[in-house]
This record gives sequence, structure tokens and C-alpha cells, in this order.
Amino acid sequence: MAQKRIRLRAAPSPTGYMHIGNLRTYIYDLLLAKQTGGDFILRIEDTDQSRFVEGATVNLCKTLKRLGIVPNEGVWLAEDGETLMQRGEFGPYIQSERKAKHQKYAQKLLDMDKAYYCFCTEDRLAEMRKLQEATHQPTGYDGHCRKLDIGEAKKRVEAGESHVVRLKLPKEGSVVIDDAIRGKVNFDWKLIDDQVIVKQDGMATYHLASMVDDHDMEITHVLRGEEWLSSAPKHIFIYQAFGWEVPIFAHLPLLLNPDRTKLSKRQGDVSVESYLDKGYLPQTLINFLALCGWNPSDKQEIYSIEELTRLFNLSKVNKSGAIFNLEKLNWLNNHYLREMDVNDYLKLVDMHLPRDEKDVDFKGRIALMFRDRLNVPSDITELSSFMFKSTLDYAATTLTWKDHSVEEAVERMETVRQWIEQIDDSKLKEVKSVEEDIKSKIVDKGWGNGDTLWPLRVALSGQDKSPSPFELIVAYGKERTLARIDEAVAYLLK
Ligand code: GLU
Repeated sequence: MAQKRIRLRAAPSPTGYMHIGNLRTYIYDLLLAKQTGGDFILRIEDTDQSRFVEGATVNLCKTLKRLGIVPNEGVWLAEDGETLMQRGEFGPYIQSERKAKHQKYAQKLLDMDKAYYCFCTEDRLAEMRKLQEATHQPTGYDGHCRKLDIGEAKKRVEAGESHVVRLKLPKEGSVVIDDAIRGKVNFDWKLIDDQVIVKQDGMATYHLASMVDDHDMEITHVLRGEEWLSSAPKHIFIYQAFGWEVPIFAHLPLLLNPDRTKLSKRQGDVSVESYLDKGYLPQTLINFLALCGWNPSDKQEIYSIEELTRLFNLSKVNKSGAIFNLEKLNWLNNHYLREMDVNDYLKLVDMHLPRDEKDVDFKGRIALMFRDRLNVPSDITELSSFMFKSTLDYAATTLTWKDHSVEEAVERMETVRQWIEQIDDSKLKEVKSVEEDIKSKIVDKGWGNGDTLWPLRVALSGQDKSPSPFELIVAYGKERTLARIDEAVAYLLK
């Protein structure tokens, strides 16, 4: 028998931004689809009209595009980058456009006595909940409308009475969910509420819409957040009611803060867009998120998308929550900033350097000097600000080395100034040769590195900590270097 084509879907709700945890799910979808030559589909789950956010679907597509993640089926953005399009044989891929399909399946469930109309008002449900809480009973729907005669219920619906449709779930026994990550998980039916599957506005809820669409779209693997595990029994119930083959479910562990609380908006950023805006590179985010909860080796942290694709194994994803380690994210971004094409790097960093500085080469040299030290491109603004100042504030540090006198510091600076003046312009472009030149002259003089290089470095930076004086000389260029030394000498002699 021919092997079934592997099909996975990203199914975001257009809430205004993409949650970083959802992106991890989409990355796993993508890896599995690529690994097996299958399909990766983008379906928009917009049936909750109360959460509708204007432009959110376009934004989601733009964010995926920025990440270089391109689903081969479903919703996508046209060339103009603004118009939503759909492609594929299983459309529509925007869930609200599938309303009629969902209603048809809801009707089938009603006909099979696997679902029922519920006319309970918001007030009644609120009363019920209050009472349950007051009497310390588990909260949940009390089955008030479950027993209604179907003929009666239909008449009330036809008469236009406001209603929802609920699943008629078993009240005893248990159900087993076979999860690709967690193995078999058992649930008691009595703890599971008769879920609303069609709301008053006629729209299906996630519980019906997503199952129907996954089935209709021939999805083979449903990867989703752990928060859906407790709803899985309802979903299995729907599959079984229709006699459909259940897809492989994998509930991915939550992303956690270092204190093991759930990564939430209140504690920091959870939106993918904000990480991209801060300058985290797509390859950083993909590498980092793929390793949140899974790592094929304990020795390697850097993986290309090709390696991830080759190595990914759903059953090796950890069951427990994955800590969102910002330090590791920064370390990875620093790595990819160093690895990327130099012209792309310069372009990225340039927008964080002063616009009014017109010396493009100078800015380029600065960008290269700080390349190893950046977590995100914008770090360069603060790190390099001293280099653009017309004068430095030396008061914050000391220009003299340990117990050296002002005269000794001045002597060293003035001498080094002469040495630098004599360095050939072509050599002044290489940190190593500047370093060798100056260091050998220090030896000839019988001076120490500390007592010579400290005043020089502080003269050039005005800071206790900075790149080495050799790097600074190369980045400044001869003229600016000499001017800085003159400035420091004048300050000391004041
Ligand atoms: N629309 C759901 C969400 O955004 C999708 C969950 C799923 O992937 O099934 O959480």
C-alpha cells in the first residue's frame, strides 16, 4: 500500500501577534513536512469573532515571510506583500469561510445523538457556576439541556430561540489519548464537560472546526501546545463519532520562564514580531526554538535548518516544559551575526549608527570592530557612542596607569602618538600589524604593556572597558586617533 502523504498545518488564530511558543510548533511542523517530502499548510482559525483583530492575518503571513517560513499550501501573501491569497485543493483555508461545512458536521452529530441543543442563558450558567463554587463542587456544565426532548428542542430552534450546540460526551468510563510525545494518557469522561461546538452566532468553536478541517484537509499529524491536551478527549470523541481515522497528536511542552512559570506576556516578550524587531535573526529564532524541548545531541547548539530537518524526531521531544533561556538566545544571535554575509551585516547595523555621521567607511570600521560583541544589532548604538563624540569625558575614569604620574602618562601617549603617525596607511587597516608594531616599540623602550597601553586605550575611549587600543586605532583611522590622543594629553596637562 502506498504510504500516506505526511501533511501538517500551522493553525494560528489571528489575535494580532504570533506567540513565540506557536512559532516553535510551526517550526516542528515545517521540519517534519520537509523531512518526509510532505506538505506544510497555513490555515487561519478565525471562528472566534470576538477576538477578531483587523489586519492580523496579513501580519501573521508577513511574520512568517520575515522568518523565511513558506507554507506550500493554504493562506499566503501575494507579490504585493499585502493581499491574502489561498492555494491548494483543500480550501478554503480561512476557517470562517468554512462555516457551512462546520454546520453540516454539527448537524450530523445532532442527528447521531452525539450532540444536543442547549438553550441555557448566560445568567443561568453564571448562577450554576456560583452555586457549584459555593458548594465546592467541580465547575462545569450541569447537563440541564442534555435531557431535553429533541423534537421540543428543534421547535425552539425553529422558533428562533437563542441556543448553542454541545457535545453529548459519555459520563462514565475513560478514554486513552495516544500522544506522540507523552505516550498513552488516560482521561475519565466524568471530568469532561459537554463542550460547546457551535456558538450562538452559528460559528463552530475550535473543538469542532479544527477537527473537521484537519480531517477534510487530510492532516496526518496535529502538533499543538500542551494546553490542548485536556481537550483531546472531546476531539477523539468527534473523530470516533464520524468513524474518521485519528491523526497523530503531539502536545508540545510549554515554554517556561527561568523560574519555571509559564512564559507570559506579563513577564516579557512573547511575540515573534518583537524579537524580529529587536534584531534577532530568523536563523537564530529557528535554531533556538527548535532546541526548546529537543536536542539531538548534548554537544551541539548550532544547527542549520537542513540539519534540523534531517535530525528532527518528534518522539524525542521532552515531555516537560522548556526553559526559554534568553542568554542562549543572545549567544546564538551573536553567532549568526558573526556568520552572516558581511554586507548584510553592515546594512543591518548601519541603521543603529548616527545618521549625521557622513563618513561611511568610519561607520563600517566601527561596525566590524564591534561585530563579536553584539547580541542584537542595536547594541552597537551604546557600545560605539563614544566614538562619535567630538570630545570625551575623561573624568569618569583615570588616564594614568596605577601609581604612574601624569608626566609618565603624557610621555607614553606622546611617544605612541609619534609611532602611530609613522605607521603606513596600508598597515593601519590591520589590527594585528598595528599591535605588533606598537608592542615591539614598547619592548625597545623598555616600558611595560600596562603602563603604555592603558593610557592609550583610555585616551581613545574615555572608558575603563573598551575594545583594545589596536582595534580602536584601526576603527578611528589615523587622523581621529591622533586627535583623541591630543585631547587626552591636553586634559591631563590642564
Ligand atoms: N488556533 C489554535 C491556536 O491558535 C490552534 C491550535 C492547534 O494548532 O490545533 O491555539
